[in-house]
Amino acid sequence: AEARLVQAQKMEAIGQLTGGIAHDFNNLLTAVIGSLEMLIRRTDDEKIQRLASMALQAGERGAALTSQLLSFSRKQRLSPRPVQINTVVESMSDLLTRTIGAGVMVRADLARDLWRALADPTQIEVMLLNLAINARDAMPAGGTLTIGTRNISRVPASVQGELAQGEYVAIEVADTGIGMSQEVQARAFEPFFTTKAQGKGTGLGLAQVYGFARQSGGTVRITSAEGEGTRITLYLPRTRDSTEPAQIEGMKHVDGGG
Ligand code: ADP
Repeated sequence: AEARLVQAQKMEAIGQLTGGIAHDFNNLLTAVIGSLEMLIRRTDDEKIQRLASMALQAGERGAALTSQLLSFSRKQRLSPRPVQINTVVESMSDLLTRTIGAGVMVRADLARDLWRALADPTQIEVMLLNLAINARDAMPAGGTLTIGTRNISRVPASVQGELAQGEYVAIEVADTGIGMSQEVQARAFEPFFTTKAQGKGTGLGLAQVYGFARQSGGTVRITSAEGEGTRITLYLPRTRDSTEPAQIEGMKHVDGGG
């Protein structure tokens, strides 16, 4: 529990520090990206197009990174709504299969009659993508990635410290990869903690997943054994509200950039 508190304080400090910078940086990048896109469209000069495309790609990588930084600071606005997670998983299956690449089998183990979760669907996509990338990196020699969903009617003892009593929807992402040692498990949610080679990992993936889950009133658990594999379980609160997304769209918060 103490380690978790230290981790929460660390996330808070880094979140405050980076949140402001990332937010302003993101606005600047939006302007840069927009201008480059316009330049690419307007010019007939192939050399300029090629150079501008390279700059655009770098700008987009920068935007992806700032969005990761923003996600564990409080600066990123949430648009929570009732989400059917099974639908999100199904709509992403092509993307996930392509991300994972050949050699890894992707299986879905989706609960029938899954409850709706109250969450931001875009965040769920980002979380699943982060977890899939980690699973791929953990299975260089191939294996199986299983994405499962479950209704949770009683909060398990292991997460009682973090979750209020109530009903949750669980998403499980399990791989048959290298697994994580106790030391790695203890630090895995820390921003910038990575065991990957330089340029391969940012150490922000799981910090982002944890930040998203906490923002939604849920949490994340790691179950892992070295040489056997890893299972990441996301808990998201259930909602009984079945309002159509179109109707609650008006609640969406638009960030004015200030
Ligand atoms: P990154 O992937 O950039 O290193 P993450 O925050 O996503 O950052 O992960 C932190 C560390 O946790 C990884 O470097 C790796 O050591 C470990 N890890 C995460 N997911 C897995 C997994 N599925 N299997 C084994 N180790 C993992």
